[in-house]
Amino acid sequence: VQAEIVTIGTELLLGEIVDTNSAWIAQAFTTIGLNLFYTTTVGDNLQRVTQVLRAALERSDVVVTTGGLGPTVDDMTRDAVAAATERGLVLNEELLAEISCFFAKHGRGMTDNNRKQAYVPEGATVIHNPVGTAPCFAVAWHGHLIISLPGVPHEMVYLMEHAVLPLLRERLGMQGIIKSRTIHTTGIGESAVDAQIGDLMQGDNPSVGTRAHPGQTDVVITAKADSEAQAEALISPVEQAIRARLGAVVYGADREQHAPAILSLLRERGLTLATVESATQGELAQELYIAAGGDPVYAAGLVIAESGGCPLGLGAEALGAAGLGSQQAADALAERARQVTGAYLGLAVVGPCAWKQGYAPLIYYCLATPEGLVRREPRTGREGPAGRGWLRHLALELVRRHLLGLEQI
Ligand code: ATP
Ligand code: MG
Repeated sequence: VQAEIVTIGTELLLGEIVDTNSAWIAQAFTTIGLNLFYTTTVGDNLQRVTQVLRAALERSDVVVTTGGLGPTVDDMTRDAVAAATERGLVLNEELLAEISCFFAKHGRGMTDNNRKQAYVPEGATVIHNPVGTAPCFAVAWHGHLIISLPGVPHEMVYLMEHAVLPLLRERLGMQGIIKSRTIHTTGIGESAVDAQIGDLMQGDNPSVGTRAHPGQTDVVITAKADSEAQAEALISPVEQAIRARLGAVVYGADREQHAPAILSLLRERGLTLATVESATQGELAQELYIAAGGDPVYAAGLVIAESGGCPLGLGAEALGAAGLGSQQAADALAERARQVTGAYLGLAVVGPCAWKQGYAPLIYYCLATPEGLVRREPRTGREGPAGRGWLRHLALELVRRHLLGLEQI
């Protein structure tokens, strides 16, 4: 079955807001086996919205729209759906009662444009919206279906989960369930993962695919079956084979994340960690702090600037001539962080902070432990969130591998 998404709103076209609704809905479609061939964004213009919806309905079985359901003049989705499906708009008494009730409850008077929201295309199925004021609806057109949802992301998500996905499942005669297992690896790129498990990725059920994130590659195993238990039985042997093949680069699955996984390891052993960072610009501390939720397992994090004088009371000579850009600096800072905070482990990820365009400096790592210093190869840092993501994962991996007695990468 072919599906299509239309997001409506001029601010999307102007780039003032990012269209996250499309991404969310696209992912949701894959979980119910709908094929998505087109996603369109259109501004608040009745003629253009109508044209886009008509074209979408003609070529796709299911069309989901978001935005433009509010009470104002620039909200014209209901008019456009009515025009595209060649119907009039009719007043829905039940919706009108709901809307007046909402205004009565909030002690506000209802205006004419609020009344407008009680109109839906003739023959539409109303989808009640308990998390907002914009009512939604589905309209059938020559065996095709168009469903209009609000633009506000949390309302859209609620309605997709509670009304639209169940409705589509039923309409598509979908029996059974789809279950996925996501295996998280770190410190290894997508192509390297692919090279190791390519032959295990050929199957249909379960299907196996990879997803690349900065510093993390996920392997997603998805099974279709009549029951949860049957799906698990399909996934389990493939998961074991993949884990056996990939070995130590696997740090967790599904909701497990790298930083929390490491904090759990520390907690189990009654150990604590402190960090010093420059290249990761505070993201390492933030990630660990949030994951620890105030638990002293994460003792402290210091973010230092390149010309920050004598961090942690260290003299310039302790860092060496290259400032933060040396292994000597990483070693000194990791050990010092441990001493100053009294944490069991001190982790440093440092390097020049003021990166020039096109200049990729080396970033140095060190983990100070009571038994001595643990290092990994310095790695070229890249600017931006993706670059910092890699550095963060590599720093965390130094700790994980040390705690588990695994060879450092
Ligand atoms: P309302 O009754 O709240 O006006 P609506 O259906 O008319 O609902 P819009 O006015 O189009 O929705 O959008 C409301 C807000 O939702 C926008 O200001 C924007 O912040 C957010 N939004 C709209 N469309 C999208 C989208 N495609 N992706 C992410 N956010 C969106
Ligand atoms: Mg609006």
